[in-house]
Amino acid sequence: MTSFWIVPLAAVALAQVAVLATSMYLHRALAHRSVVVHPAANLLFRAVLWLTTGQDRREWVAVHRFRRFASDIREDRLDRAVFSRGSIGLALGATLLCLVLGLWQGLIAGSVHAVLYVFVLAPLINGLGHWRGAQNFSNTAYNSPVLARVTAGESLHNNHHAHPRSPKFSVRWFEFDPSWLVIRALAAVGLLVITGTPATLVGSGAPSGEP
Ligand SMILES: [Zn+2]
Ligand SMILES: [Zn+2]
Repeated sequence: MTSFWIVPLAAVALAQVAVLATSMYLHRALAHRSVVVHPAANLLFRAVLWLTTGQDRREWVAVHRFRRFASDIREDRLDRAVFSRGSIGLALGATLLCLVLGLWQGLIAGSVHAVLYVFVLAPLINGLGHWRGAQNFSNTAYNSPVLARVTAGESLHNNHHAHPRSPKFSVRWFEFDPSWLVIRALAAVGLLVITGTPATLVGSGAPSGEP
Protein backbone atom coordinates (compact mmCIF):
# COMPACT_ATOMS: atom_id res chain seq x y z
CA MET A 1 0.00 0.00 0.00
CA THR A 2 1.23 3.40 -0.88
CA SER A 3 0.70 6.17 1.62
CA PHE A 4 -1.93 8.76 0.83
CA TRP A 5 0.40 11.70 0.39
CA ILE A 6 1.26 10.29 -3.02
CA VAL A 7 -2.33 10.84 -4.22
CA PRO A 8 -2.26 14.64 -4.74
CA LEU A 9 1.25 14.41 -6.17
CA ALA A 10 0.22 11.74 -8.68
CA ALA A 11 -2.91 13.68 -9.64
CA VAL A 12 -0.98 16.89 -10.32
CA ALA A 13 1.77 15.00 -12.17
CA LEU A 14 -0.80 13.24 -14.39
CA ALA A 15 -2.62 16.49 -15.15
CA GLN A 16 0.71 18.11 -16.07
CA VAL A 17 1.70 15.24 -18.35
CA ALA A 18 -1.73 15.37 -20.02
CA VAL A 19 -1.70 19.15 -20.52
CA LEU A 20 1.88 19.08 -21.86
CA ALA A 21 1.01 16.31 -24.34
CA THR A 22 -2.13 18.20 -25.36
CA SER A 23 -0.23 21.44 -25.94
CA MET A 24 2.81 19.95 -27.67
CA TYR A 25 1.21 17.20 -29.72
CA LEU A 26 -2.47 17.99 -30.34
CA HIS A 27 -2.11 21.75 -30.44
CA ARG A 28 1.36 22.65 -31.73
CA ALA A 29 2.22 19.55 -33.80
CA LEU A 30 -1.14 18.52 -35.27
CA ALA A 31 -3.36 21.62 -35.26
CA HIS A 32 -0.70 24.19 -36.23
CA ARG A 33 2.18 22.11 -37.61
CA SER A 34 4.76 24.22 -35.82
CA VAL A 35 6.67 21.06 -34.87
CA VAL A 36 6.89 17.65 -36.53
CA VAL A 37 7.31 14.69 -34.21
CA HIS A 38 9.37 11.55 -34.88
CA PRO A 39 7.24 8.37 -35.36
CA ALA A 40 8.41 7.04 -31.96
CA ALA A 41 7.43 10.27 -30.20
CA ASN A 42 4.17 10.29 -32.18
CA LEU A 43 3.27 6.87 -30.80
CA LEU A 44 4.28 7.85 -27.29
CA PHE A 45 2.20 11.06 -27.36
CA ARG A 46 -0.83 9.16 -28.65
CA ALA A 47 -0.47 6.45 -26.00
CA VAL A 48 -0.06 9.01 -23.20
CA LEU A 49 -3.11 10.99 -24.35
CA TRP A 50 -5.15 7.80 -24.75
CA LEU A 51 -4.32 6.62 -21.22
CA THR A 52 -4.63 10.01 -19.48
CA THR A 53 -7.47 11.68 -21.42
CA GLY A 54 -9.09 9.17 -23.79
CA GLN A 55 -9.23 11.90 -26.43
CA ASP A 56 -9.45 11.32 -30.17
CA ARG A 57 -6.72 13.39 -31.84
CA ARG A 58 -8.73 14.13 -35.00
CA GLU A 59 -11.67 15.34 -32.95
CA TRP A 60 -9.45 17.61 -30.85
CA VAL A 61 -7.85 19.20 -33.90
CA ALA A 62 -11.20 19.63 -35.67
CA VAL A 63 -12.70 21.33 -32.59
CA HIS A 64 -9.68 23.60 -32.31
CA ARG A 65 -10.19 24.68 -35.91
CA PHE A 66 -14.05 24.88 -35.48
CA ARG A 67 -14.57 22.31 -38.16
CA ARG A 68 -16.19 18.92 -38.15
CA PHE A 69 -13.21 17.04 -39.54
CA ALA A 70 -9.46 17.36 -39.55
CA SER A 71 -9.01 16.06 -43.08
CA ASP A 72 -5.21 16.40 -43.04
CA ILE A 73 -4.90 13.89 -40.20
CA ARG A 74 -5.57 10.46 -41.57
CA GLU A 75 -7.08 7.84 -39.35
CA ASP A 76 -4.54 5.02 -39.33
CA ARG A 77 -4.81 1.41 -38.24
CA LEU A 78 -3.80 2.23 -34.67
CA ASP A 79 -6.49 4.93 -34.46
CA ARG A 80 -9.13 2.47 -35.61
CA ALA A 81 -8.00 -0.44 -33.46
CA VAL A 82 -6.82 1.30 -30.32
CA PHE A 83 -6.73 5.06 -29.92
CA SER A 84 -10.29 5.83 -31.07
CA ARG A 85 -11.54 3.75 -28.13
CA GLY A 86 -11.20 6.43 -25.51
CA SER A 87 -13.08 4.69 -22.73
CA ILE A 88 -10.78 1.65 -22.99
CA GLY A 89 -7.76 3.95 -22.73
CA LEU A 90 -9.14 5.63 -19.63
CA ALA A 91 -10.06 2.30 -18.03
CA LEU A 92 -6.59 0.91 -18.77
CA GLY A 93 -4.95 4.09 -17.46
CA ALA A 94 -6.97 3.87 -14.24
CA THR A 95 -6.10 0.17 -13.86
CA LEU A 96 -2.38 0.87 -14.28
CA LEU A 97 -2.63 3.68 -11.74
CA CYS A 98 -4.35 1.37 -9.22
CA LEU A 99 -1.69 -1.28 -9.77
CA VAL A 100 1.05 1.25 -9.05
CA LEU A 101 -0.57 3.22 -6.21
CA GLY A 102 -3.12 0.83 -4.70
CA LEU A 103 -6.86 0.64 -5.44
CA TRP A 104 -8.27 3.67 -3.61
CA GLN A 105 -5.21 5.82 -4.09
CA GLY A 106 -5.30 5.09 -7.83
CA LEU A 107 -9.02 5.78 -8.14
CA ILE A 108 -8.80 9.05 -6.22
CA ALA A 109 -5.64 10.26 -8.01
CA GLY A 110 -7.22 9.44 -11.39
CA SER A 111 -10.44 11.25 -10.51
CA VAL A 112 -8.65 14.34 -9.20
CA HIS A 113 -6.53 14.39 -12.36
CA ALA A 114 -9.68 14.22 -14.52
CA VAL A 115 -11.28 17.09 -12.59
CA LEU A 116 -8.10 19.17 -12.91
CA TYR A 117 -7.77 18.53 -16.63
CA VAL A 118 -11.41 18.95 -17.63
CA PHE A 119 -12.85 21.38 -15.09
CA VAL A 120 -9.86 23.45 -13.98
CA LEU A 121 -7.10 23.68 -16.61
CA ALA A 122 -9.27 23.70 -19.75
CA PRO A 123 -11.66 26.45 -18.49
CA LEU A 124 -8.68 28.47 -17.23
CA ILE A 125 -7.06 28.30 -20.66
CA ASN A 126 -10.16 28.85 -22.77
CA GLY A 127 -12.25 31.08 -20.50
CA LEU A 128 -9.63 33.32 -18.98
CA GLY A 129 -7.70 33.48 -22.27
CA HIS A 130 -10.54 35.51 -23.75
CA TRP A 131 -11.58 37.40 -20.66
CA ARG A 132 -8.80 38.89 -18.53
CA GLY A 133 -5.04 39.26 -18.53
CA ALA A 134 -2.13 41.02 -20.19
CA GLN A 135 -1.65 41.76 -23.87
CA ASN A 136 1.47 42.03 -26.01
CA PHE A 137 -0.43 42.18 -29.30
CA SER A 138 -3.74 43.68 -30.27
CA ASN A 139 -6.22 40.83 -30.62
CA THR A 140 -9.13 39.42 -28.62
CA ALA A 141 -7.04 37.13 -26.38
CA TYR A 142 -5.12 37.64 -23.13
CA ASN A 143 -1.98 36.29 -21.47
CA SER A 144 -1.74 34.98 -17.90
CA PRO A 145 2.01 34.45 -17.38
CA VAL A 146 1.55 32.92 -13.91
CA LEU A 147 -1.05 30.41 -15.07
CA ALA A 148 1.04 29.58 -18.14
CA ARG A 149 3.46 27.78 -15.81
CA VAL A 150 0.82 25.18 -14.96
CA THR A 151 -0.98 25.11 -18.33
CA ALA A 152 2.02 24.07 -20.45
CA GLY A 153 2.28 27.61 -21.81
CA GLU A 154 -1.30 27.62 -23.14
CA SER A 155 -2.27 30.63 -21.01
CA LEU A 156 -0.05 32.84 -23.18
CA HIS A 157 -3.08 32.97 -25.41
CA ASN A 158 -2.64 36.54 -26.65
CA ASN A 159 0.79 35.61 -28.03
CA HIS A 160 -0.65 32.46 -29.61
CA HIS A 161 -3.41 34.41 -31.39
CA ALA A 162 -0.81 36.79 -32.79
CA HIS A 163 1.56 34.01 -33.88
CA PRO A 164 -0.47 30.79 -34.33
CA ARG A 165 2.36 29.02 -36.16
CA SER A 166 4.98 29.73 -33.53
CA PRO A 167 6.08 26.61 -31.63
CA LYS A 168 7.01 28.92 -28.71
CA PHE A 169 4.23 30.75 -26.88
CA SER A 170 6.36 33.08 -24.73
CA VAL A 171 7.82 36.34 -26.08
CA ARG A 172 8.90 38.28 -22.97
CA TRP A 173 11.63 37.43 -20.44
CA PHE A 174 9.13 36.93 -17.60
CA GLU A 175 6.85 34.70 -19.64
CA PHE A 176 7.66 31.01 -19.32
CA ASP A 177 6.36 28.36 -21.69
CA PRO A 178 7.05 24.89 -20.19
CA SER A 179 6.17 23.15 -23.46
CA TRP A 180 8.90 25.07 -25.29
CA LEU A 181 11.46 23.70 -22.82
CA VAL A 182 10.33 20.12 -23.51
CA ILE A 183 10.11 20.79 -27.26
CA ARG A 184 13.74 21.92 -27.31
CA ALA A 185 14.82 18.88 -25.26
CA LEU A 186 12.99 16.51 -27.64
CA ALA A 187 14.47 18.35 -30.65
CA ALA A 188 17.97 18.00 -29.15
CA VAL A 189 17.64 14.20 -29.04
CA GLY A 190 16.08 13.99 -32.49
CA LEU A 191 12.53 13.09 -31.40
CA LEU A 192 11.04 16.23 -32.91
CA VAL A 193 11.79 18.86 -35.57
CA ILE A 194 10.87 22.51 -35.02
CA THR A 195 9.30 23.77 -38.25
CA GLY A 196 7.57 27.00 -37.21
CA THR A 197 9.50 30.20 -36.48
CA PRO A 198 9.55 31.06 -32.75
CA ALA A 199 7.60 34.28 -32.17
CA THR A 200 9.26 37.45 -30.94
CA LEU A 201 7.82 40.57 -29.39
CA VAL A 202 8.84 42.67 -32.36
CA GLY A 203 7.67 41.71 -35.79
CA SER A 204 4.20 41.68 -37.20
CA GLY A 205 1.49 40.61 -34.84
CA ALA A 206 -0.59 39.76 -37.84
CA PRO A 207 -2.37 36.45 -37.51
CA SER A 208 -1.16 33.99 -40.10
CA GLY A 209 -3.74 31.29 -39.50
CA GLU A 210 -6.32 30.21 -37.01
CA PRO A 211 -5.52 30.32 -33.31
ZN1 LIG B 1 -4.12 27.16 -31.59
ZN1 LIG C 1 -8.52 31.92 -28.57
